[in-house]
Amino acid sequence: MILNGKRALVTGGTRGIGKSIVFELAANGATVVFTYFSSDEIARKLEEESAAMGYKIFGFKADAASFEEAEKTINFTLEKLGGLDILVNNAGITKDNLLLRMSPQDFDSVISANLKSVFNYTKLALKPMMGQRYGRMINISSVVGIIGNAGQSNYVASKAGVIGFTKSTAKEVASRNITCNAVAPGFIVTDMTGALNDKQKEAILTMVPLKRMGEGDDVAKTVVFLASDAASYITGQVIAVDGGMTM
Ligand code: NAP
Repeated sequence: MILNGKRALVTGGTRGIGKSIVFELAANGATVVFTYFSSDEIARKLEEESAAMGYKIFGFKADAASFEEAEKTINFTLEKLGGLDILVNNAGITKDNLLLRMSPQDFDSVISANLKSVFNYTKLALKPMMGQRYGRMINISSVVGIIGNAGQSNYVASKAGVIGFTKSTAKEVASRNITCNAVAPGFIVTDMTGALNDKQKEAILTMVPLKRMGEGDDVAKTVVFLASDAASYITGQVIAVDGGMTM
């Protein structure tokens, strides 16, 4: 229970990596608010499931791209949990296409959901964290934000942006005992990668030395480490959880 008494906010917690992060934080003693975009039914089910397990997990519907909705989320979190120690910016989407076919709308919406969202929540979480002189911020980037990927220029730009944003934030807030790190997952089994066909998955695995796709838990355990006191001297870093893909 290395996070006993800690209060956490996770964006995009209904499915995939975010859901794993929410449960791993709770399993380590944290109370958690998670956001989601549209999955009301799943959110209510997760609250019930978690209550039965003795966890305190609360869902809140809010578009991460909207600053106004992020403000409402932070207010809900402070009211429900009594403070905020850990912020995990996880919500993200893809709208893949080759650059020649990519619409300006698809570029803008991916940048808003994946990068502006990180600005929204980081800015708003700073006030309570600075006041208490303690905070752990963890941003979910992607290995493609480091190495690039054809057909994902909008997504890759957003994830590379998250890395730059993480490092700048880390430098700005270090003196207040707030750390800010990024986790860059490789190919993780979730709805986001569920659309890949077998041939695409085979091609991906040829690039992964550990020869398997990752699980949400692989990412969640790294997030818990970065949120814990064991990582108190780590800031501004990008930790790849990718089976060795980018080594
Ligand atoms: P996922 O299975 O598609 O789940 C996305 C989650 O984000 C859902 O809870 C969704 O809520 C929420 N969400 C999406 N847009 C949102 C918005 N505008 N506002 C609030 N919530 C929003 O995705 P995933 O694969 O777990 O990915 C999670 C993160 O890891 C993303 O940032 C992704 O880019 C990153 N990542 C994933 C992989 C991978 O291989 N899967 C690899 C590298 C990085 P609803 O259920 O309501 O839609």
